[in-house]
Amino acid sequence: MPRWCRVHAQELAGALLVALGAIWLVAGLSHVYAHPVIGWLPLPVGTALAAIACARAARDDRLDPGTRRFWWHLTLAGVFFTGGTVSNAFDAVGGPVPSQQVGPVTVAFYLAVLGIVIWALLRLPSWQRSRADWIRFALDACMVLVTVGALVWHLSLRDHERWMAQTGSAGPMLAIMLSAFVGVATFVKVGFAGAGRLDRQAIHVLAVGAAIAASLGGMSPFFSERPYLSTSLVAVPVAALAINLAAARQRFNGDRTPGTRTASRKISLLPYFAVAVTDVLLLSTGTGDAAETTAMQTVAVVLTALVVVRQILALRDNQKLVDELRGYQKRLTHQATHDSLTGIANRALMEQHVDRLIAGGSRFHVALLDLDDFKTVNDRLGHHVGDQLIGVTSRRLAHVVGDRGLVARLGGDEFTLVIPAGCDAEALVREVIEAVGAPAELAGHTVITAASVGLTTARPGDDPAEVLRRADVAMYAAKTAGGDGWHWFDAAMDQAADADARLAAELRRAPADGQLVALYQPIVSLPGGDPVGAEVLVRWQHPVRGLLGPDAFIPLAERNGSVVELGDWVLREAVQQAVRWQQRLGDRAPERISVNVSARQLADPRFVDRVAELLTASGLEPARLMLEVTETAVLAADLATEQLHRLKALGVRIALDDFGTGHSSLSLLLDCPVDVLKVDKSFVSGTTAGRAGAIIVRNLIGFTDDFGIDAVAEGVETTGQAARLHEAGYQFAQGYLFGRPMDAAALEELFANRVTTGAAAA
Ligand code: C2E
Ligand code: MG
Ligand code: MG
Repeated sequence: MPRWCRVHAQELAGALLVALGAIWLVAGLSHVYAHPVIGWLPLPVGTALAAIACARAARDDRLDPGTRRFWWHLTLAGVFFTGGTVSNAFDAVGGPVPSQQVGPVTVAFYLAVLGIVIWALLRLPSWQRSRADWIRFALDACMVLVTVGALVWHLSLRDHERWMAQTGSAGPMLAIMLSAFVGVATFVKVGFAGAGRLDRQAIHVLAVGAAIAASLGGMSPFFSERPYLSTSLVAVPVAALAINLAAARQRFNGDRTPGTRTASRKISLLPYFAVAVTDVLLLSTGTGDAAETTAMQTVAVVLTALVVVRQILALRDNQKLVDELRGYQKRLTHQATHDSLTGIANRALMEQHVDRLIAGGSRFHVALLDLDDFKTVNDRLGHHVGDQLIGVTSRRLAHVVGDRGLVARLGGDEFTLVIPAGCDAEALVREVIEAVGAPAELAGHTVITAASVGLTTARPGDDPAEVLRRADVAMYAAKTAGGDGWHWFDAAMDQAADADARLAAELRRAPADGQLVALYQPIVSLPGGDPVGAEVLVRWQHPVRGLLGPDAFIPLAERNGSVVELGDWVLREAVQQAVRWQQRLGDRAPERISVNVSARQLADPRFVDRVAELLTASGLEPARLMLEVTETAVLAADLATEQLHRLKALGVRIALDDFGTGHSSLSLLLDCPVDVLKVDKSFVSGTTAGRAGAIIVRNLIGFTDDFGIDAVAEGVETTGQAARLHEAGYQFAQGYLFGRPMDAAALEELFANRVTTGAAAA
């Protein structure tokens, strides 16, 4: 039999028993029963059915433990209820004549049922959490119970004496009042404190059932003339049916989450309602009955006390709420004005502070501090070490500056100091730079960093943005001067900065405007100086400034990102030129063409595809293309090493340019697929040339041999240098001695005249 059928069969049986009870009772009004016990038979059947329904719900393992426990409680209540009905029947028809007397055993059974139901309700999980919530709930519940109690007392009082005589004790009245309470208590509990995951429909059915049963019980005096009848004959089946239906509802709805509600702290209308009801009762109580007057007075006093306590609690709650709100607001303000990583002031607070100082007409200095190697630390040791470095730096700044000024973090590795005019800003900045430069132990690494600081003095009429801009310009000047130092802002820097900005804008258009020029410098083999390859070196034919070298615009292009387009132009130019040379010079053509790749290009994930595309489009053999990267470019991006491997897989050759000038180590050679090492010109002809340079140059060749890497010496200017390099073991060189960067035609001529010995080609 499907589950819903069983469910309905039980509900139908319960309803049938109610109908039988009602018919028996009504028929009994005009007929004296010879066998009144028949009327009592449906009662234990109904309550037993109810107990079984509850047990079924309790065994339903889709329900949560709290809900199942409730239904076990109700099963127990059903058992006691059955015991009560049997005992009740015995009281009524067990004697020589039918009676409406209710014995103490029956009363005990019924009271146990009520106690268990109330207990079950209270045990249901509540949404109330704190002790205060519970106190509030208890007060509300007491208010409702006192009011309802007063009401019931008032209404049933008239027949009090007669009823006591009729039933033989105060027990039945107590039971009826209590079952009315259960109905009310159910609503109170569910309405004010929640009922966990118990089915809401089930709760409502229970409450309505209890209320109907109580009202039917209250009709007892109408049957005082007919001792063979009892309102229990209908009231009990109704209560049993309600329990039955509730359990069926629960099983039918299963564990569907009842709508969750949170405890509301709204000011409750309940106390006012309770007071109003009691006032009405008080006014309608006649002066005649002293007992009733005393009772009503007591109710009024108790209720007043409850309401007063409840309202005091509400006031206290409100005060707490206001305090909480204030704290929350304070936290919000703190969050809005402080840096989340370091807890020091943020840009917003710094700007407010600067605004106030400017408005107050005070003179003060602003320093902008930027760490010199932050990006490297982040890339090599990871962001968590980078974050720790920021934390350490902020603590050092706060410690050194103390109450001499305001320290704020602008974001990234940038900090500002706002220093009052009375303070020696230069001395403070010197202290700051020293403190920040001290080694720090971070996650097992000793990190040494340095800072560049720009200083400016705020003038009347400034705004925070302008002051910061000047400090920023000065900071860049300090960085350009090599970092680890500080610089005051001066107006000349502004002009330089403006010129830079203009130049940067022009540079973006340079490739499209046809202002870029590719020059080629030969790479030769030693000792003969026969050209074997060429490096493309870019120039910018600026309409006003004339021909500019890469040092004048590559760093700028690197900063504003236009180096990606620029580099793309150079790469395409070089690839196409190499193909042209191959067509025109045949095996005299340069074996290899070198192209410089910037950090930004290497960091661009599309770069490898672009190279592949250009190679395919032009038909240039990949091995004829050499890409020159610097150590710094490789270290700047996480992606770089991976990109180099992908390029290598294309068949392109990789050169490590300017080797020896970065602070990286030889370990880079292990990670990166390097084919050629270009030893920087400073070791050959520049500042480091000389004894030390000579030693480095000599030793490098030893290990490039071990790694199977070719070495190219850059910046060879004299025959003496060339001879020494050859002696040291260098097979390739590049420098003014063999040829300056020249245009494509000049290089073509150079290669056209070369003596192609098979060796050079190899
Ligand atoms: P690099 O790649 O190391 O290029 C060699 C530089 O040394 C060139 O300077 C070249 O003219 C110079 N040079 C060659 N022989 C000698 C010599 O005997 N003595 C001296 N003192 N210098 C010599 P250039 O053309 O000014 O380029 C400077 C740097 O600009 C290049 O250094 C390279 O890093 C960068 N660069 C040039 N073209 C490009 C380009 O298309 N893209 C990118 N990203 N960077 C480029
Ligand atoms: Mg180069
Ligand atoms: Mg170089």
